[in-house]
Amino acid sequence: MYKIPFNKPYMTGKELWYISQAHHAGQLAGDGNFTKKCHQWLESQTNCQKALLTHSCTAALEMSAILADLEPGDEVIMPSYTFVSTANAFVLRGAVPVFIDIRPDTLNLDETLVAAAITNRTRAIVPVHYAGVGCEMDTLQEIAQKHQLMLIEDAAQGIMAYYKGKPLGSFGDLACFSFHETKNIIAGEGGALIINNPHLSEQAEIIREKGTNRSKFFRGQVDKYTWIEKGSSYLPGELIAAFLYAQLEEAQAIINTRLKLWNYYHQLLEPLELAGKLRRPIIPPHCQHNGHMYYIILPDLQTRTKLIAFLQEQGINSVFHYVPLHSSPAGQRYGRVGSSMDNTNRISECLLRLPLFPELGLASIEKIVSCIKDF
Ligand SMILES: *Cc1c(COP(=O)(O)O)cnc(C)c1O
Repeated sequence: MYKIPFNKPYMTGKELWYISQAHHAGQLAGDGNFTKKCHQWLESQTNCQKALLTHSCTAALEMSAILADLEPGDEVIMPSYTFVSTANAFVLRGAVPVFIDIRPDTLNLDETLVAAAITNRTRAIVPVHYAGVGCEMDTLQEIAQKHQLMLIEDAAQGIMAYYKGKPLGSFGDLACFSFHETKNIIAGEGGALIINNPHLSEQAEIIREKGTNRSKFFRGQVDKYTWIEKGSSYLPGELIAAFLYAQLEEAQAIINTRLKLWNYYHQLLEPLELAGKLRRPIIPPHCQHNGHMYYIILPDLQTRTKLIAFLQEQGINSVFHYVPLHSSPAGQRYGRVGSSMDNTNRISECLLRLPLFPELGLASIEKIVSCIKDF
């Protein structure tokens, strides 16, 4: 039987050619030519002050937590409905994640709950652009400014998506992208830190280069390099950057393909929504998403469990997420709840992600939707 996987990493065809170029050039450590090309691409896409490749979005979030200069007990407001790294990066610095609920439409953190969760220990807000659909950045920027909080976008899923015409990743003091093989643009494992606040650029370079001013040294701005701040090693080698650059060159085409597949799901599933069997994703008119994820919301946990098994019998792999962080063992130990969690609890039980990757094809989508209809 033909099986439909949940995800299949897409390759443009140029990845190995660029890796062989990097190999031939002989510089394999980070910050070579391909890394520079990736930085330039990201800087022009997001209009940011500086972009820095990292090993992962997790690493970029960890750099953000160091840049936020948090002290033990400082609080960071974020959704509970997110991947663990959003919270874990701040917990590593001794900070306390304060979890708030999500909006019922976009499943992004509910900006109307943020102000009530602010205390005199709050230092940062970390919105997550779920499924590449922008959070309400106007409101969040206003709140951050008013309370002098750092705004850090977890844009792991948000590359080349837009809020009111501006790219995700361009709103926060900092933003973090992921190039994990399950995301739209991939490097196997990879990520980037986007720096919009010019006061943070120099320190970000230092943190990424083991706490040294090595980047300045290579630009000839200082005559020796030395340890000047706390830091770690967050830069990927050139082979990763070479692979990634091949993807970035094709990014628009990859996203167009994903959007075509996404729209086909959306069209074919409309009758089931009208019949009250499920709910489809809601994209506000001022948000331009990037086709990262197609999900459906089912009436209850039991229906979801049965549908997953039914699809599996037909060779279709569907998945759910997230275990809400406020109910995870570490979330309970290190964080606290800052609002009711009704939407988070409901969505984590009822949401189902359907296969979506560039090579999926329209015929597979017809098959998946017809199985859902049979069910
Ligand atoms: C994928 C993801 C991450 C982690 O990305 P890595 O590159 O695997 O570290 C963080 N946050 C969100 C919302 C994600 O979807």
